[in-house]
Amino acid sequence: MEETEVGIPFYHAVGKEVEVFEQVYHNKLPILLKGPTGTGKSRFVEFMANKLRKKLITISCHEETSSTDLIGRFIIKGAETIWLDGPLTTAVKNGHILYLDEVAEARPDVIVAIHSLTDHRRELFIDKLGETYKAHEDFMLVASFNPGYQRGFKELKPSTRQRFVALSFNYPEPKIEQEILVQETGIDDDMAKRLVMLGNKVRNLNELGLTETVSTRLLVDASKLFQSGLAKRLAVKVAVMEPLSDEKQTLEALYDLTDLMI
Ligand code: ADP
Repeated sequence: MEETEVGIPFYHAVGKEVEVFEQVYHNKLPILLKGPTGTGKSRFVEFMANKLRKKLITISCHEETSSTDLIGRFIIKGAETIWLDGPLTTAVKNGHILYLDEVAEARPDVIVAIHSLTDHRRELFIDKLGETYKAHEDFMLVASFNPGYQRGFKELKPSTRQRFVALSFNYPEPKIEQEILVQETGIDDDMAKRLVMLGNKVRNLNELGLTETVSTRLLVDASKLFQSGLAKRLAVKVAVMEPLSDEKQTLEALYDLTDLMI
């Protein structure tokens, strides 16, 4: 039987991550994807969920994300108070993949809530109901974490990290990144190559002191704008350089580099 690939999001593997994820899934373990923003972590999870034919629920965590948001809450409906499952509870009961994007951003009670799901117990305790649910056979917990971004403030505790199998994501090597740009946007090889070279140049300019540097996402965005008709240098300046810094001098240096390389 041939499997149709229609609807599968495009993902270019950069190492053994597909094989690792499959094994982690079959062994009912949780997985942590580490790496800077825009390096394909979310795309990878979408791709894997599709490949494994699982429903994916994604939560983009921020400083207000609490365990209640994940587990569920009582709501008042007319004269009644009814319980509404949160996305984590839904995923645990139905065997979906739950993806906690930027998990370190969430409130500490989120980490507490997922503890018993990340070890051999694989169960969720809902204190407001006084009930414990065993996770469905197919339930999988995936979390992502950006180690650089959290520098100085939000870290993941070693005791939490050690509950996950972990995969590192980084900027792909030039040939692969070039292929990603071509596949994603239909841009020609020459322009893709220039963009990747420019991206790598900026990534190596430590003296600019950028908090976050050029990600594959930014290069994809520039390619899209260029493909839809924006002048190439303008596309790069607005999609890649402007998001990186607000400092006049830094931007001037980045603009000069764009004029030189694109
Ligand atoms: P992250 O979750 O790490 O912040 P994303 O998964 O959102 O990053 O990736 C941002 C964009 O970069 C994607 O939408 C896609 O266009 C592109 N991308 C990055 N890496 C890959 C890859 N390996 N294969 C395909 N597309 C990729």
